[in-house]
Amino acid sequence: MRVEVLGGYGGESIDCRMTCLLINGTIALDAGSLSQALSIERQAEVCSILLTHSHMDHTSSLPFFIENVYGKDRAIDIHASEATTYAIRKYLFNNATWPDFTRLPNHLVPAVRFEEFRSEEPLTVDGVTFTPILVDHLVPTHGFLIEANGAAMLWSSDTGPTHRFWEIANRTPNLKALCIDTSFDNALQQVADVSLHLTPRTLEAELRKLQKKVPVLLHHLKPPCVARIKEEVRQLRNPDLEFLEQGKEYKF
Ligand SMILES: [Zn+2]
Ligand SMILES: [Zn+2]
Repeated sequence: MRVEVLGGYGGESIDCRMTCLLINGTIALDAGSLSQALSIERQAEVCSILLTHSHMDHTSSLPFFIENVYGKDRAIDIHASEATTYAIRKYLFNNATWPDFTRLPNHLVPAVRFEEFRSEEPLTVDGVTFTPILVDHLVPTHGFLIEANGAAMLWSSDTGPTHRFWEIANRTPNLKALCIDTSFDNALQQVADVSLHLTPRTLEAELRKLQKKVPVLLHHLKPPCVARIKEEVRQLRNPDLEFLEQGKEYKF
């Protein structure tokens, strides 16, 4: 499986694009920067989007992406939980913020179709299996176990201290990498705690739940915190820790 990091951050600046992975060229995991990171031609190859939750840093390119690929002969499938689907339909595609593309050009052949998933019920898209795992964030949020051709990776999405994610990591034999939220530096611990994100300090505690040696890729850094987070992670002296690199293609 090929995983391109279109956006690896939890906020936006000139160097940082918001959360968005592209898997095998056709499946987007979150949509924080689909329209900023891909040419129109490559956007047209994206057929399915999985959303971890409704927050803007994971969904903000949806309106512009959908406009860019409008006129396809089939709908874009958006896979999301019931809570995320509700929020996107009510607050984004509500005809006030942006047109309701589930009814355009008409409700029989719409530009967008929502497909609801449930926790721990695997769904397969273009040969890649996604198992949604509930994590701990301000709104209902799922990470994913992503499996294809015998390889697996784990994506945390946004989370504070959590439990089930680590159980799944420990029981998945062919795990090639796991990606985990590290949003704020330690000085912003209180902000991280109330917004249910991790800092290098709480990351270190979380990693005690991991019972195997596997590359741990850190993501969702908030742009103003990047330099301090990198220094604090370096001080942890854990050789398995890396930063998920925006613009890089990973192969698992
Ligand atoms: Zn986020
Ligand atoms: Zn969030």
